[in-house]
Amino acid sequence: MGSGTVEAFVSVPSKIVSVSTTATTTVAGRNSVPPPSGSRRKLTRGMHMKSQATQVKPDSPASASPGNTKRVYLLNEGNKDMKMLLGGKGANLCEMAKLALPVPPAFIITTETCLEYFSEGTGNLPKALNYEAELKTLEDDTGKTFGDPKNPLLVSVRSGAPASMPGMMDTVLNLGLNDEIVQGIIDTTGNERFAYDTYRRFLNMYSDVVMDMDKEPFEEVLDRIKARKGVKLDLEMDAEDWKEVVGEFKKLNPNVPTDPREQLRGAVLAVFRSWNNDRAIRYRSYNGIPDEWGTAVSVQAMAYGNMNDGCGTGVAFSRNPSTGENKFFGEFLPNAAGEDVVAGIRTPQPLEEMAEKWPEVYSELFSYQEKLEKYYGDMQDIEFTVENGRLYMLQCRNGKRTAKAAVKIAVDMVKEGTLTETDALLRIPANQMDFFLHPTLDPKAKKTLIGEGLPASPGAATGKIVFTPDDAEAMANVGEDVILVRKETTPEDIHGMKSAQGVLTALGGMTSHAAVVARGMGRCCVSGCTAAEVNFSAKTLTLGDVVLKEHDVITIDGSTGEVYLGAVDRRSATEDVDFQTVLGWADSMRKLKVFTNADTPEQAATARGLGAQGVGLCRSEHMFFEPERISAMRAMIVSESKEERLEHLATLSKFQRKDIEEILTEMDGLPVTIRLLDPPLHEFLPHSEDEMKALADTVGKPLSVVKDRVAQLQEVNPMLGFRGCRLSVVYPEITEMQAKAVAAGAAMCKKAGRNPKAEIMVPVVSTARELRLIVPRIQKAVAEELEEAGVKVEIPIGTMMELPRACQTADDIVATEGVEFMSFGTNDLTQSVWGFSRDDAIKFIGRYSEQGLLDFDPFARVDEKGVGGLIRTALDKARAQQPDTKVGICGEHGGEPDSVQFFHSLDFDYVSCSPFRVPIARIAAGQAAASESLKKAEKLYRESITNLKRKGKKSD
Ligand code: ADP
Ligand code: MG
Ligand code: MG
Repeated sequence: MGSGTVEAFVSVPSKIVSVSTTATTTVAGRNSVPPPSGSRRKLTRGMHMKSQATQVKPDSPASASPGNTKRVYLLNEGNKDMKMLLGGKGANLCEMAKLALPVPPAFIITTETCLEYFSEGTGNLPKALNYEAELKTLEDDTGKTFGDPKNPLLVSVRSGAPASMPGMMDTVLNLGLNDEIVQGIIDTTGNERFAYDTYRRFLNMYSDVVMDMDKEPFEEVLDRIKARKGVKLDLEMDAEDWKEVVGEFKKLNPNVPTDPREQLRGAVLAVFRSWNNDRAIRYRSYNGIPDEWGTAVSVQAMAYGNMNDGCGTGVAFSRNPSTGENKFFGEFLPNAAGEDVVAGIRTPQPLEEMAEKWPEVYSELFSYQEKLEKYYGDMQDIEFTVENGRLYMLQCRNGKRTAKAAVKIAVDMVKEGTLTETDALLRIPANQMDFFLHPTLDPKAKKTLIGEGLPASPGAATGKIVFTPDDAEAMANVGEDVILVRKETTPEDIHGMKSAQGVLTALGGMTSHAAVVARGMGRCCVSGCTAAEVNFSAKTLTLGDVVLKEHDVITIDGSTGEVYLGAVDRRSATEDVDFQTVLGWADSMRKLKVFTNADTPEQAATARGLGAQGVGLCRSEHMFFEPERISAMRAMIVSESKEERLEHLATLSKFQRKDIEEILTEMDGLPVTIRLLDPPLHEFLPHSEDEMKALADTVGKPLSVVKDRVAQLQEVNPMLGFRGCRLSVVYPEITEMQAKAVAAGAAMCKKAGRNPKAEIMVPVVSTARELRLIVPRIQKAVAEELEEAGVKVEIPIGTMMELPRACQTADDIVATEGVEFMSFGTNDLTQSVWGFSRDDAIKFIGRYSEQGLLDFDPFARVDEKGVGGLIRTALDKARAQQPDTKVGICGEHGGEPDSVQFFHSLDFDYVSCSPFRVPIARIAAGQAAASESLKKAEKLYRESITNLKRKGKKSD
């Protein structure tokens, strides 16, 4: 499973709003009627839940009683805190209007009405929905009338969920047109070209979005007429051409309703329905947005960017969303409508050009973005349209940004005094921080530049090129790195982008779909590589003289926009100064220590460089897998007597002592927890006839002996078989060898003047009696070895908690003489609690998520209720017995932010994760502590207010 993308800044992380699933529960500010079980089944839930995405502020109460529900809001009736009810887009439109920014008049139909639509299940608008009064207000505010050919009002019908889902749902523009009304527009504006351009846009969008028709025939009409005229751009089409296009579009779809009110009903229904289109469902599942939220619908007077050269449309960010640089940044398309920018149809101009052309409009826009950023305390993403020199603000929201930009913006905003370190730390999408660990191109590497585009989303990626999202997904599923090559991307490409290491598009600007989505996902992306010729049928990508076929390898650099032939060496970006600052904040706030799981000195060194404060899990068996060692290991396993086994163990011991000395040296002064041999012995043995023969020859035994031994060790269910401490029970000499090796390694370090802190951990324990047998053997072996070496070092012994029985009897376990710590092995614990084999779950776990049986993969994120509940039980029992027992976790969950938060809440001493997740765990642990301290501060504040009030009363 890939790591999900996090919509970093859906809103300032505050409370996680749970949404009621029973008809009687009322959730903060909502009096919603949730969909009945029938329609809920359609609302497929998905994996990859990420709590940050679901953090949306609760609304202020909407209305008094369910019978009296307010379904439609005017802009002056809402505000930014009403995202749950009005959607992010709607709530922010209200807020901008409140701040006196120029927003076209609009009304908003609530998310609850959308849920009502699904629950009624009639396919019609909810009976109780009536927006005539609000439509009348729109008419009054604009001085135009909906459906009146003499002075027609056109509207957009826009989707908008509580959390931003850019481009995933539908929007219909220029609604309210028919043959008669288009004539009215010509009469009132005198601009025939504009009128027919608008009409063809409407017919096209309505057919696509509301009537679900294929887009291709419409595109073919356009292409055909353009080809006949010998033009390429929309701009080169004149009034007659657009009129002809309109005629052809009407032939393709003669059934677009002519009654504007019917059009409006159709569009509102289509927006409701779009909440449940495949891409929206998929997006929600990647981003952990609940299916039960629904979308709001904004109906807004149109502002026209496509009238003439005094018009245009654009998208802007208050800071650079790619690098984080504090510089107003954006793109603009003259004489175009909003959908043209997002769709990447033409490559837009940078805002600087607009500044030259229309200095006044630019400075107005500049002042609004400044105002909005200050007001929201976060980087803003803004959509605007200019109609005849008048600026209209169409959308603002906290902007999506790359991991790099998120870090830079947080650090800058602290420097500017806009945010405290605590607030800034909480805004970092911890999950995306692996960007800094993933490589950028090594400046010294040899490279062959074959193309250049826009640096749309930073990072560098190498992979085989593929041309369709399905191919990308299929290749990724078999472990290939791919680069998805498209002309431009659309929301249908999401799964391919998700699967690819990087995305290359020929068209589209810095705010195109490809760029925005790639940044949100943390995928590197080069967009607008205009020299790239993409041939889908031949599956070739041509860049100048270079013709690349499907599966040829390229490297793209999303930080520079460059495209290289073949693979290019990369290096990590961990030294980034701002990233180090954020890590510094996290370190100063966190209570959890962060250890690493490392089996080799190299891994330990990497992890220490990334800030690991110890090794929480060193899997000693990994030292035996190298070629020269595996043969000694195999010889030991096929031994027919104890003497023979001891002889081979002596060989292994030499290797093990040296390895342990080295890893202790790397981690000098820090704890290193060495786990005794864990896997079933069978895993070490050869399986092919040839290999068995070779082994028989090396150990000088007949092939039959080896074969018998292999057969004898074969297990039906090895994960529940002869492994872990069970090996120690049966072969005490193996444990003795390992314990002595640890003591010897530590002794050598000590003699060399270092400070070794080795610990020994016993795996797969199910009963304290196992420990009562094994721990004294370890203690004896260690004591003998240290005595022989003539040094004194402490080597604490502990146990791994990975079986339910051990958790249930944790009090007995910690009461065992000599047991000083426990470390939860959450991989095996998840396996044994769920009864899901880690190696086989892949076959069904996807279906579980599709059918709503799992919200996330419990092997990736800790299952707080089941596995977590058992951990809680174990801790309670252990702490009641031995309050100061050291507890840690080692397992994939140790580097997963939500799980880290959970372990923080249980007062663990440390989490241990793979080396490259150490910085993520540091940040997550800092965030866990920071949000706890904020909650405490809030509570104190509330108490002090209550006290003041009480005092006030007394003195009355
Ligand atoms: P999305 O959520 O996909 O961004 P929007 O509702 O923002 O969808 O609409 C897409 C585009 O349509 C916007 O970028 C905007 O420029 C344009 N648009 C929407 N409403 C209006 C309007 N009232 N006037 C002019 N353009 C509009
Ligand atoms: Mg938009
Ligand atoms: Mg285990």
